[in-house]
Parts: sequence; C-alpha cells; structure tokens
Amino acid sequence: MADTSFLSWPFFEAAHREHARRLDRWATDALASVDHHDTDAASRALVAALGRDGWLGVTAPPPDEPDARLDVRTLALSRETLARHDGLADFAFAMQGLGAGPISLFGSVDQRRAWLTRTRAGTAIAAFALTEPASGSDVAAISTAARRGGDDWVLDGEKTWISNGGIADVYVVFARTGEGPGAKGLSAFIVPAATPGLSVTERLAAIAPHPLARLRFDGCRVPATAIIGAPGDGFRIAMATLDVFRATVGAAALGFARRALDEAVAVCRSRQRFGGPLADLQMVQGHLADMALDIDASALLVYRAAWAKDAGAARITREAAMAKLHATEAAQRVIDASVQLHGGDGVRSGHVVERLYREVRALRIYEGASDVQRVVIARAVLAGDGAA
Ligand SMILES: Cc1cc2nc3c(=O)[nH]c(=O)nc-3n(C[C@H](O)[C@H](O)[C@H](O)COP(=O)(O)OP(=O)(O)OC[C@H]3O[C@@H](n4cnc5c(N)ncnc54)[C@H](O)[C@@H]3O)c2cc1C
Repeated sequence: MADTSFLSWPFFEAAHREHARRLDRWATDALASVDHHDTDAASRALVAALGRDGWLGVTAPPPDEPDARLDVRTLALSRETLARHDGLADFAFAMQGLGAGPISLFGSVDQRRAWLTRTRAGTAIAAFALTEPASGSDVAAISTAARRGGDDWVLDGEKTWISNGGIADVYVVFARTGEGPGAKGLSAFIVPAATPGLSVTERLAAIAPHPLARLRFDGCRVPATAIIGAPGDGFRIAMATLDVFRATVGAAALGFARRALDEAVAVCRSRQRFGGPLADLQMVQGHLADMALDIDASALLVYRAAWAKDAGAARITREAAMAKLHATEAAQRVIDASVQLHGGDGVRSGHVVERLYREVRALRIYEGASDVQRVVIARAVLAGDGAA
C-alpha cells in the first residue's frame, strides 16, 4: 500500500487530495488490463481511455478560458499516481501536456480551440519536437530551418528522439527563423502529422518501450497562422514550457520510486532468510530507511516546485531543476536497491522491479540531462537567486 501521508502536506488543497485518490482508484481498475505488447496500440488506447474518463482535462486549460492556468500540482500528482501503476500510462498523459504545452501557454485563441479541445479529450495525440541529431542539450544549436514561402512557412531539417513520433496527430516543432544568433533566432510551429513534407524516417526502440521517432522535414509547408507567438520567440517558449513540465518528470520518478519501495517492503516482510523475514536484518532496514528518505526528499522538492508555480512564481527554473535532478537520481537509487532486495527475482524479465529499473533510466536524460540541471542550479546559485 503506497504511502499517501504526503497528501496532508500544506502544498495541497482539498481538491488535489481528492484528485489523487480518485485517479489512484481509476488506475487500479483501468490500467491492470492494458496489453503492452504493441507499444503504439497501447499508447493510443491509453490516451483514448485517459481522455474518455476525463483525466486529460488537466493537461491544458480549456481553450475558451484565456485566464485559466495549468495547475502544476495536479499535473505532478497525476504523473506520480500513474507512474506508480504503469509507466506507459504516465507517458501517454505527460506527452499530451508537454506536446500541447506551447499551445496552452502561448497559443492564440484559434490555435487553442483547434488543438486543445482534442488533446484534452484524447482524440488527438501531441508531440514536442525540439531535439535534433546535432543539438540535444545544446538547444541553441538547432539547425532545422523555417523560411517564408509567400504567406507560408517552409520547414527543412531533422528532429530525433521525438516521443509519440509516428503516432502523433500534431507536432510542435522548433525551427530556426534567424531573427538573431543562436537561441534568439528560433520559432515554434504547429505542424499536423499529415502535412506534406513531414515524414517519419526511423522508429527508435528504447530500453523501456514507448513510441519514439526520427522525423524529416522536406519543404514542409505550413500556413502563416501555424507560428506560435512571434518569430524569434521559440527558445523562450520551449524553456517556459519545460519549466512547467520539468518538475513533473520528477513526479513520475517519484511514482516509480514509491512503487519500488512498496515492492521492496512486501518482499522483505515475506521472504524468509537466516531464520526470519529479510525485514529483520538491520542492513536490510538500513536500505529501506535510505529509500524512504530519498523518496520524501524528492516529494518535498517536486511539490515545492509545483506549489511555487501555482502560487504565482513567474519562473521556477531553479526549483524545477532541483526537483527533476534529485527525484530522478534518487529514483534510480531506490529502484536499484529494490532490485537488490528481490535477489534473483529482481532481474527476471517481466518482474515489476525489473520493469521499473528500465523505465526510470531515460528520465535522467530527457527534458535536460542531470548534468545540465546541475549547471542550471549552479547558475542560479551564483546569480544569487533565492537570496534575501
Ligand atoms: C526516451 C526519450 C524521450 C525523449 N523525448 C523527447 C521529445 O519528446 N522531444 C524532444 O525534443 N526530445 C526528446 N528526447 C531527447 C532528449 O531531450 C535528449 O536526449 C536530451 O536533451 C539530451 O540530448 P542528447 O541525447 O543529444 O545528448 P547530449 O546533448 O549529446 O548530451 C550527452 C551527455 O553529455 C552531458 N552533457 C551535455 N551537455 C552538458 C553540459 N552543458 N554540462 C555538463 N554535461 C553535459 C550529459 O551527461 C548528457 O547526458 C527524448 C530522449 C529520450 C531518451
């Protein structure tokens, strides 16, 4: 039984607690029977089920309510809860938020109406296309270009490691429009998957399967209305979107870690060694204590960041970087310890902790690798952020 005592922390309101409990009940019933053999089909089915039952409504504000904001605590609680049950369900949920994020945060009313109604209902799948073969962490080095072609924009270049690549209905694509050097010359575009000139050139297989692809843009023409914000706003849009969603990556890691601790506690109580349960051995207790400590520290950082954003902070760059860095690194440690406490069973293919061991790994790389988060935190510390 997962520890839910954190729900009484002052970061939350009654509606958050209720949301977490209801989603947990839904996930217990709805996710137990998801067939994961075909990753694309499972992802589509999960988006449809999450949309049908109303859980994607929190991934973007209603399109006709310009003052409505994303509630980051609800996003984080949703991801933590779904990740504890099923990593692919968390992925399906998270990508609707991140993929549509630039439209939610910076889109025009027409753009919001065209896409958010569908992404929130689970009838359109969204993707966020930033990374390129030669620019991952170094976003300012993006070379995919968008040039004017009459009233249109014409995109040429390549993107890689794009989640939902191959199954998405819409991609938000970041491309160089050249208003200035490096980060100052990028813009964001809404590109429907069926747009001529956009093709999926490779499907990528990862250690924890989810839809991933390499994309090619070859004279890919989109109307002038496809740009989000103004030309040159792309870097700001990408960073502000990641700022909101980065803390939720920490929340997903937290969900994985909580599940790993639950599994460890269960096996330590039941497995008999040296004349009693494993849980009686003090060295084992030491591991369980370290795991619980790592989890609580992660939860404090994740929900501090989410609360700060919801409380009106313009940016939470430092808090989100700390939350993501600590929660993902700690989850890896917690899951590794859980595998260890399971003995040989822990590495058996298909065992829940073996699955968690694979699922958590990419979280330390995407949406800003751990060392990049360290750089972000150090910059904030050196700039005196947070000093009285
Ligand atoms: C499963 C998965 C899903 C993804 N989904 C998406 C998606 O939906 N959309 C999207 O746009 N991208 C996505 N990505 C791409 C992801 O964001 C990049 O992989 C990530 O930003 C790292 O870029 P890179 O792989 O090019 O590694 P590099 O930038 O080459 O970095 C390699 C390593 O070098 C080190 N490093 C790099 N820069 C620094 C620095 N400044 N200081 C210190 N060390 C550094 C780090 O250890 C880093 O891990 C996904 C990746 C994965 C694995």
